[in-house]
Amino acid sequence: MPLNEPYPELDELLVAVGEAGQRVSGIDASEGAAGNISLCIGWPLEARRRFSVVEEIPLPQPAPALAGKLLIVSGSGRRLRDIHADPDASLGVVAVEADGQTGRLHTAPRRLFERLTSEFNSHLAVHNDQFARTGTNFHALIHAQPPHLTYLSHIPAYRDGEVLNRRLLRWEPETIVNLPEGIGVLPFILPGSPALMDATVAGLRKHFVVLWSKHGVMARSDVSVRRAADRVEYAETAALYEYMNLVNHDQAEGLTQDELRTVVKAFDVQTYLV
Ligand SMILES: [Zn+2]
Repeated sequence: MPLNEPYPELDELLVAVGEAGQRVSGIDASEGAAGNISLCIGWPLEARRRFSVVEEIPLPQPAPALAGKLLIVSGSGRRLRDIHADPDASLGVVAVEADGQTGRLHTAPRRLFERLTSEFNSHLAVHNDQFARTGTNFHALIHAQPPHLTYLSHIPAYRDGEVLNRRLLRWEPETIVNLPEGIGVLPFILPGSPALMDATVAGLRKHFVVLWSKHGVMARSDVSVRRAADRVEYAETAALYEYMNLVNHDQAEGLTQDELRTVVKAFDVQTYLV
């Protein structure tokens, strides 16, 4: 579903990205400069006033569905927790050219990064896929490294999507309401690689969150970047419960399948998971 007018202005979107960065950092999912955020926007925004330095850049891969669209992208090496204090120093705005192969990168004179995030290829490919497939006019992506979820992915049994979702959805009724498709699980794939990009595009067609095993997650939303941050938080909270239960010798019951079914029925959740 596309967003309706009145559309958020650039300043509001930058504040939202900053808040999302703080939230992700607040659950310890972005140590150091880990993690990255991007938005793709389908309505016109005036970027040049705040981001007056303009350069042509090749896109890491073609994005024909994003011709004429704007991306707000975090810079390589910038800390998610610092974005809110000075978004202009940490973010760039890419206007995708009509050819879908190049972009104009707008940055502020005081930018503190050389290049955009090293995961820009995955961000771009997922935005392109979502815009092309769903006709949305807004899409947000967050890559974060939530420790409990990432830890579970180091245990071979949890790298099975069915096992992971059955064990994680049992701790809080909210989890299945907010992640009705569960979490998609990818194997370990080299960060920044074309293989990770392709697998992430495919995974995010079916899920709002994909787990990059032994690395972190990518979460998406076509409503707001805060919603994408929420999804990281719901997934990580479920993993925290699961971790506690592992450490506590599996003593907890968790929600039974019957209990989960009553939740799904009461909240009219479209899911195939229970
Ligand atoms: Zn990472």
